[in-house]
Amino acid sequence: MAITQAMWIHGHSIKVEYHDRIKSIRRAGFFARITGKPNTTNWFHFSIPTTVIVNDKRQMIDSVMLRFRSGSNKAKVTNVDIYDGDWKIAAYDNLGLYPATFGLQRFNVPGKPEISWGVGISIGVSFTGTTDAQNTIEFSSAGCDFNLFESVRLHFKVLTTPTVSIDQMLASMREVYEPVGVRVVRMSDENLDLPSLNTVDVGECKRGITTAEQNTLFNHRNNVVANDVVVYFVEATNPPYNGCAAHPDGKPGAVVASCATRWTMGHEVGHVLGLSHVDNNDRLMTGNGTGNITNPPPDLISSEITTMQNSNLTVNP
Ligand SMILES: [Zn+2]
Repeated sequence: MAITQAMWIHGHSIKVEYHDRIKSIRRAGFFARITGKPNTTNWFHFSIPTTVIVNDKRQMIDSVMLRFRSGSNKAKVTNVDIYDGDWKIAAYDNLGLYPATFGLQRFNVPGKPEISWGVGISIGVSFTGTTDAQNTIEFSSAGCDFNLFESVRLHFKVLTTPTVSIDQMLASMREVYEPVGVRVVRMSDENLDLPSLNTVDVGECKRGITTAEQNTLFNHRNNVVANDVVVYFVEATNPPYNGCAAHPDGKPGAVVASCATRWTMGHEVGHVLGLSHVDNNDRLMTGNGTGNITNPPPDLISSEITTMQNSNLTVNP
């Protein structure tokens, strides 16, 4: 997966939020050196030059990076918040970073949102030392990687809320999909009051074969356009599975039962994108049940990634 753009800005462009809480800021050719007053917290900001559209396509943010070093463990980065204009797109709020040498710290942006207004990085720092040397932090650079990911667009239709939360299933799915260049977009959420389909008959759950109950369930497609995928969260399937990806022609989707594991949704959508079972519990597509996955996050192999990218359900708008 190639990065479309990597943008960096030099450390001496940093902006200080509370000038009265710092003792000094020195901008040199190689960094900005900030010495905080004892027992203060502060925010420092970088704005990253952001090309939002490349070749008529809107870029998505992958991650941001910082290069800094601290004079001691008393000058700690506590927060790294990432913004697109006024929209906070990622927050790392319980950090305690005080590298002694310049390295590269990377902060992933979950969901890989499209960027509209320009990337800002806001860095919270606490100064708790008693000497200037202890309360010094130096920023040499800040950067951001952008990409044009393939996207799978999901709509959630909830008959029964699953035991493992939908948020957790989505985060787990992203853990597997994003590193291989497929971002997972949550398009819509809807509750469905369909008691008669809450334990849905899935027959043998074979690709291309559906029951009357599945056909009725998959007719519920509010807000869904062509090539979007619908996940129906039901109480149970009959016979009982964690999920089932068999779906009527032209209505791509899957059912996920309330007993599902954190990996079930990613696994079932994997089937929808064309993947088949394997006998290997290190992989997302294990046929032995995602509850038996041994080495999380589970893997996708290159032939599976190719299949996913070639699916017309992964789009690069
Ligand atoms: Zn399966």
